[in-house]
Amino acid sequence: MSDVEVEPEVSDPAASVSRVEVVSAREVPLGGLRAMTVRRTLPQRARTLIGAWCFVDHYGPDDVAATGGMDVAPHPHTGLQTVSWLFSGEIEHRDSLGSHAMVRPGELNLMTGGHGISHSEVSTPRTTILHGVQLWVALPERHRHAERDFRHYAPGSVHVDGADIRVFLGRLAGEVSPVPTFTPLLGAEILLRPGASVTLATDPEFEHGLLVDSGGVRMDGTLLQAAELGYRDTGSSTLTLTNETDAGARLVLLGGPPFGEQIVMWWNFVGRSHDDIVEAREAWQAASDRFGEVDGFDGYRIPAPALPNATITPRRNPTRPKGTR
Ligand code: MN
Repeated sequence: MSDVEVEPEVSDPAASVSRVEVVSAREVPLGGLRAMTVRRTLPQRARTLIGAWCFVDHYGPDDVAATGGMDVAPHPHTGLQTVSWLFSGEIEHRDSLGSHAMVRPGELNLMTGGHGISHSEVSTPRTTILHGVQLWVALPERHRHAERDFRHYAPGSVHVDGADIRVFLGRLAGEVSPVPTFTPLLGAEILLRPGASVTLATDPEFEHGLLVDSGGVRMDGTLLQAAELGYRDTGSSTLTLTNETDAGARLVLLGGPPFGEQIVMWWNFVGRSHDDIVEAREAWQAASDRFGEVDGFDGYRIPAPALPNATITPRRNPTRPKGTR
């Protein structure tokens, strides 16, 4: 009965419609010879996961003549998949599975780290403007030691009202990506014409994140500016996006059911415990077969940073206050 006092009734009708949290980006240097920076919206202190999406880096548009572009030497991953999605430019990908791929705008490149993989990512000399996102997907306990894998998929564009949509993972607007995932996921790029508004059917079991590359755009009524990430909880069967500007807006929509497992993230590893991280780090430092070799990369591999003195603890999503969704 005391919940009524703890959670006063919502009197503003607009507030009861919008359940969107606005997550701001922080600037993070990516490393390399010159310091290209990215805007990171996941993970945050306030939010670790949206579905299985555990990492959202957004960069550019960068003039590579000024920033040096992307130059990331071989480094390892465990327990996750990486999604590279470009708006502009080109990145040469090499990994220890033997994959050698050019990441190009509008094309999904999905790498499964699983038990262990290593890869390098370098923007090509052809690239003048580099602009895109890198996303990570946490693998569920049953599959976190999966075998290395690499998939490429170039989705077509579907037009709905004022939106042009490319679905790279999952399903949206009648389009279905053929790329398999270990948990239900949604990943799509949406171009919203000036002033356009579109309402899309969404899975009520999914929570959603909307990264705004250029905007502002309203997500179910909440205004998001460029580089912000809107988060919406489960429970809605539609999503309304409105471009408030007189220019086109580019968005990346992510979704999935709440992950339901606590993860430990440190450097390039996702595990479940401090010991998982220590073991992965030692294997990388010892050049173990766990991560293999990246052929064709001219240069050194990236050494793991020193472990923190404290035990690495699981990241948690915030506990919802009673009476809220
Ligand atoms: Mn990587």
